[in-house]
Amino acid sequence: MNKNNISAFGLSDQFVALSKEYPELEIGRILSQEKGRYRLICENGEKFAKMAGTFRYKAIAVSEFPAVGDFVMMENLDVNSDAVIHHVLQRDSVLIRKASGTSNKEQVVAANIDIIFLCMSLNNDYNLRRLERYLSICRESGASAVVVLTKADLCEDISEKLAEVNAVVMGADVLVTSAETQNGHEQILPYIKKGSTIALIGSSGVGKSTLINCLLGEDLISTNAILKDDKGQHTTTRREMMLLPNGGLIIDTPGMRELGMWDAVEGVDKTFTDIEELSIQCRYSNCTHVSEPDCAIKNAIESGALSEERWQSYQKLKAENANTKNAKVNVIVKEHKQKSAQKAKKYPKKIRNYDGEEY
Ligand code: GDP
Ligand code: ZN
Repeated sequence: MNKNNISAFGLSDQFVALSKEYPELEIGRILSQEKGRYRLICENGEKFAKMAGTFRYKAIAVSEFPAVGDFVMMENLDVNSDAVIHHVLQRDSVLIRKASGTSNKEQVVAANIDIIFLCMSLNNDYNLRRLERYLSICRESGASAVVVLTKADLCEDISEKLAEVNAVVMGADVLVTSAETQNGHEQILPYIKKGSTIALIGSSGVGKSTLINCLLGEDLISTNAILKDDKGQHTTTRREMMLLPNGGLIIDTPGMRELGMWDAVEGVDKTFTDIEELSIQCRYSNCTHVSEPDCAIKNAIESGALSEERWQSYQKLKAENANTKNAKVNVIVKEHKQKSAQKAKKYPKKIRNYDGEEY
């Protein structure tokens, strides 16, 4: 396996086939994003790249821009200068969250992921409602979700918590790990196949870095390699996507403290299939589950088959999605208006179809 070539970085036949549409361009995969530039891996190793001006201009939604894990088509003419990204190949899966802060925008966390390890600690971070939220976002992404319950050594009622978790994950695999057992190394490794891409998400402090270091083993050093940038300065860089000794790829999502929802209606439905199934049994097909007779949801809450907390959680997540859906339309319309205004101001009518680096 050549560790410094894109063939070791999940380049499947599917992406090779998609790349054939652009015979004049070269394929690369994004490893990390650094101050407006992308670090990617291509046929001849690692390379910096930037976006083509035309791409910036045509993009409507933020999620169209390349993110870690994306396969992109680029112009790579000069070994000494940045490559230029022209296209993002159609994603297999994409993990999107609402950008942090008050702005109503989406943010692509990572693309083309096979499995998301959803990490939650069995001590302070343990929260079933947060787990439901994270699962909904994962299930919207198209990747499969595996729940990793960390810090078992700090928990006294593991079997009780495990039963609670299994009752809400609707069939997702659940693993229990502990620093005392090498962070569940042995249980986790079988999920990470050669060439497959794994992402880790979860609150900070739950043990994600510890787990990654454990999986990286001796290769840890390469994540902090000192590289020369194009101005000849030495910079310490950190790739968000890393190659594991067993040939799998792992994506770390640093600094992601909160995971807000972004248009994850399907993900919520997939996470609450029990509630969807119950609602089909209500007497009225348009039951609002508030005061109608023979409401299967209310009956299930009364009998204890469905917890009031889970019902509330479902309603909350549904409502949050309705908000982002509205915001999504607004953002697109607003950005289009802003772009047209900027363009009109910067370029007089005669040279409107500018095709340079900036717009
Ligand atoms: P991250 O923010 O999710 O990357 O979390 P870290 O990997 O940095 O871990 C946060 C702290 O928890 C560190 O002090 C780790 O040593 C500790 N930690 C990680 N896993 C375990 C575990 O299984 N048991 C215990 N007791 N501590 C752990
Ligand atoms: Zn009902």
